[in-house]
Amino acid sequence: MIGWRSLSRLPNPCFFSPSNLQLLPPVEAGRRKCPDGGIHNSDFWTQNIMTQAKVAVIGAGLVGLSTAVSISDSLPDCSVAVIADKFTPNTTSDVAAGILIPHVYPETPVPQQKQWFRETFDYLSLIGNSPEASEAGIHWLSGWQIFKTIPDEKTPFWADVVLGFRSMTEKELKKFPQHKFGQAFTTLRCDCPSYLIWMEKRLKENGGQVHARKIEDLWELHGDYDVLVNCSGIGSRKLTGDLEIYPTRGQVLKVHAPWVKHFIREGDGPAYIYPGVHTVTLGGTKQKDNWELSSDPGTSKNIFGQCCALEPSLKAARDIKVRVGLRPSRPAVRVQKETLFRGSKKLQVVHNYGHGGGGFSVHWGTAKEATQLLKECIAALETPSCKAKL
Ligand SMILES: Cc1cc2nc3c(=O)[nH]c(=O)nc-3n(C[C@H](O)[C@H](O)[C@H](O)COP(=O)(O)OP(=O)(O)OC[C@H]3O[C@@H](n4cnc5c(N)ncnc54)[C@H](O)[C@@H]3O)c2cc1C
Repeated sequence: MIGWRSLSRLPNPCFFSPSNLQLLPPVEAGRRKCPDGGIHNSDFWTQNIMTQAKVAVIGAGLVGLSTAVSISDSLPDCSVAVIADKFTPNTTSDVAAGILIPHVYPETPVPQQKQWFRETFDYLSLIGNSPEASEAGIHWLSGWQIFKTIPDEKTPFWADVVLGFRSMTEKELKKFPQHKFGQAFTTLRCDCPSYLIWMEKRLKENGGQVHARKIEDLWELHGDYDVLVNCSGIGSRKLTGDLEIYPTRGQVLKVHAPWVKHFIREGDGPAYIYPGVHTVTLGGTKQKDNWELSSDPGTSKNIFGQCCALEPSLKAARDIKVRVGLRPSRPAVRVQKETLFRGSKKLQVVHNYGHGGGGFSVHWGTAKEATQLLKECIAALETPSCKAKL
């Protein structure tokens, strides 16, 4: 079997590569200046600061686990702990359909969104084409995105990232008599809980830890950890006081219909059908500022009706289960460093939250960016080891 750890490290430059060392303060070649003024050689700096750093990642959904895995892959000597009050199968990530089709963040520059999507797609392609695919719950999925009215933009920004993107033929469109235009392509899908369980296993193999705990205030962790990485999804509203993040409620059905093998998604309507490993996800609602976690039977009936109109064979679906999740929506995903102050105390935080309806599509790209920011925070730490001058 392919050694997963070596495969997974391919997209991530190792911390000890010259490109990473550029992050550290510039001094003469091979020597660096500590915050206390001491000059040490690069190896001393790298090994001591990076070895000693204790990192807490808050959140065990898709974003928290992928960020923790990225950190532990990239900084193998750091200690990484994931802390969360909910784990699979009880996170928003477990409710999602998990397909890689980007959601548009109006205040994140499109080139940035495309880069995150490409990095995620390439990374999951590696997994999807490896013997790990089944355990990780990653699979290829082909299908159609259909429109009742012809969209202004017939070729979205992500068209050259997915495979085989093209306009649907007239013959294909005959399956959808209410729709005038469509796009056919092949993308990837993450099946949860498998993907979350697999990431947690990888984190533990890398030496990471997992703790069940609700955090009321980020300062609770001050002193126990050097840097916090906040991946708390919609929980960030309370935890950081960020009022830009709001819930977009999604109600979906998970049904047994193993004969459905292609996805069907209305590009300008609410209905979607995404086949997974064990169930088919039928959606769905997008209810802004709605915090209601209980399901609504009338909504379930509508969703089922809409999806049967697109794929009539679904009338024979069995074992229908209803799930509700709150998308952590924000005009822009927040991947950012912040230093908090309380009196003379400082708390370094890297934020990675606000992925809204597109977390699966960009999570590895944002995890890599958060890891890069974390390296910058660690490089700036004033650790006791710096005081021991060579
Ligand atoms: C119905 C639906 C369908 C979707 N379909 C897709 C799709 O097909 N493709 C796609 O790309 N995206 C999809 N999404 C969006 C995707 O699910 C989200 O973007 C993603 O799950 C967000 O992940 P997260 O890790 O940020 O949040 P979550 O999964 O909610 O995880 C947050 C974590 O933080 C923890 N936490 C929060 N506050 C605290 C606290 N105070 N103390 C301790 N822990 C805390 C929680 O316990 C949890 O572990 C869908 C979403 C929904 C609801």
